[in-house]
Amino acid sequence: MNRNATSFLKEEYDELVKKSFDWKLRILESGSTPHSIVDGKKVIMLCSNNYLSLSNHPRLIKSSIEAADKFGAGSGSVRAIAGTMKLHIEVEKRLARFKRTEASLIYQTGFAANAGLIPQLVTKEDIIISDELNHGSIIDGVRLTKAARAVYKHRDMGELENVLKEADKKHKRILIITDGVFSMDGDIAPMDKIVKLANEYGAMSYVDDAHGEGVIGEDGRGIGAHFGIEGKIDVEMGTFSKAYGVVGGLIAGSQDLVNFALNKSRTWLLSGSHPPAVAGAQLAAIDVLETEPEHVKNLWDNTNYFKKELISMGFDTGDSETPITPVIVGESSKAKELSNKLFEEGIFALPIVFPMVARDKARIRTMMNAGLTRKDLDFTLDKFEKLGKQLDII
Ligand SMILES: *Cc1c(COP(=O)(O)O)cnc(C)c1O
Repeated sequence: MNRNATSFLKEEYDELVKKSFDWKLRILESGSTPHSIVDGKKVIMLCSNNYLSLSNHPRLIKSSIEAADKFGAGSGSVRAIAGTMKLHIEVEKRLARFKRTEASLIYQTGFAANAGLIPQLVTKEDIIISDELNHGSIIDGVRLTKAARAVYKHRDMGELENVLKEADKKHKRILIITDGVFSMDGDIAPMDKIVKLANEYGAMSYVDDAHGEGVIGEDGRGIGAHFGIEGKIDVEMGTFSKAYGVVGGLIAGSQDLVNFALNKSRTWLLSGSHPPAVAGAQLAAIDVLETEPEHVKNLWDNTNYFKKELISMGFDTGDSETPITPVIVGESSKAKELSNKLFEEGIFALPIVFPMVARDKARIRTMMNAGLTRKDLDFTLDKFEKLGKQLDII
């Protein structure tokens, strides 16, 4: 057959551009700091996951440099063969202590944790029950299994219980899996209720707390601490790439979980371990969370102030309970216009549009940063108010 093997590359890309669904990359010319230089412009950073500004914290930078100096630029191997350094083990010990669980395991990324562990927890006789708004990396992990799948309405415990009743009759293992903090709306999964239902029906509980770690719970210990159920969630999964300011996936739970996960997760077994500099920075991030509570406190002070002011101006911030505050504007084109105008005014906040959210719920997703001052926030709020009126949003 006479075919052009690669013509789809351009065709599909052109289609994305036509629909304005292609990513137009903004380029950082500085570190990811509360005031960053993006595409040559000095802006207030309102869309990074670096909630606590730890990525540029002197202790993280120093620890990272020292680890590289001492142990080199790379680890030389996958963890299972010759790539486990003392530093990696130290991070896992410190993290388990911080999260008050028996043990923890570090993956290359949060995505690799979900894609590696979820497929090992269930077989074709089993079922996975997911919140309808779960993150893409959970969805991909689920796709790698042969288990049956069920979805419950977002945070709807009545529906979850109905699904559990059915699942209880038909399946061997049951895995309930949910985001902890939902990344589009900034609301929190009712993890206390989920764990209770899981216990009633003999199901496993798995939470992806990527946006909760370093943010919610005492000193940023995450969703277990937030609900006072530390050690009761079967799998607490998270990431060092957000509030911790580095990179790397993590799971925390029982020693049995960690023994199982490291012997079974293909992403962990078949992909290189973190360079020493990464492990060094992770260690310092845990240290900072344990000894400098002011970062989490500032994050929440900023969040509460910013949200309150936005609401009093008449903006719709949805169900947000966290430093992720969506400013819902309606149509996609309006969200894009608002984002562009904010950027011209010196504020970097991205629009989130269909298909990531419903067609009529396009929004600017703001992510608060502990390093912003009250003056920065007032400046930002002023611009939101001015443009909100200009675009007929408020
Ligand atoms: C960011 C994110 C991930 C991926 O984490 P990485 O460590 O960046 O790969 C997984 N799940 C959720 C909910 C996330 O927000």
